[in-house]
Amino acid sequence: MESDPVEDYRYVGARRRLIETIRSRGLDDLELLRHFDEVPRHHFLPEGVWHRAYEDAPLPIGFGQTASQPSLQAFMLKVLDPQPDEKVLEIGTGSGFFTALLARMSDRVYSVERVRELSVRARRALDAMGFQNIALMVGDGTIGWRKYAPFDVITVAAASPSVPQPLIDQLAPGGRMVLPVGSRSEQELILVTRDENGRLEEGSVQERCTFVPLLGKYGWSEDSP
Ligand code: SAH
Repeated sequence: MESDPVEDYRYVGARRRLIETIRSRGLDDLELLRHFDEVPRHHFLPEGVWHRAYEDAPLPIGFGQTASQPSLQAFMLKVLDPQPDEKVLEIGTGSGFFTALLARMSDRVYSVERVRELSVRARRALDAMGFQNIALMVGDGTIGWRKYAPFDVITVAAASPSVPQPLIDQLAPGGRMVLPVGSRSEQELILVTRDENGRLEEGSVQERCTFVPLLGKYGWSEDSP
């Protein structure tokens, strides 16, 4: 999975086209686009899908999981707006690509993944890129990561039937959380904010998206179909 400079060069054109696609969807913040330009997505994906790495599409990463669609990730980053002095909690490390984007935009990222093999692979890819501000944990992210709470930004990459209460509890004043909530087959993207006085607000920022299920204590049960 180590990417070498020659291999990276092959993808420059495709990456530029992906950035144009993201931009054409109204996500035109230059700084945000630069992160997509400078983090090579193929580096985080199994070699078998490298040729599709810069399509604006979810891609299989093994273990029945998928790397999310880049333009949807760009939208989530725009809504979350992580700041250089902020602490981020990510649930569903998956490939680690989104983790890398978050780490470039914030002070520190804490990311939880339930599939050990994916976490190990993501660690390898992130280390190869030299990130020093990312902590990964294998476990059930629906209970959050209490040790490092509260978080300014919380992002969940898998779909839940409702907003897990522990994640609400771990959202800092001034914090933003985005997560897909709905049925197993279709969800909407929900933004939960907590203002400086602790007051919570919740609203939909995008209808109709499809994520893999969030499996765990406050998500879908592990053995439901
Ligand atoms: N942003 C990632 C998306 C990965 S898909 C990427 O672009 O690669 C969502 C991930 O959430 C999957 O890897 C899945 O294993 C993980 N997941 C599902 N339920 C979880 C839970 N309760 N805790 C932590 N991770 C979970």
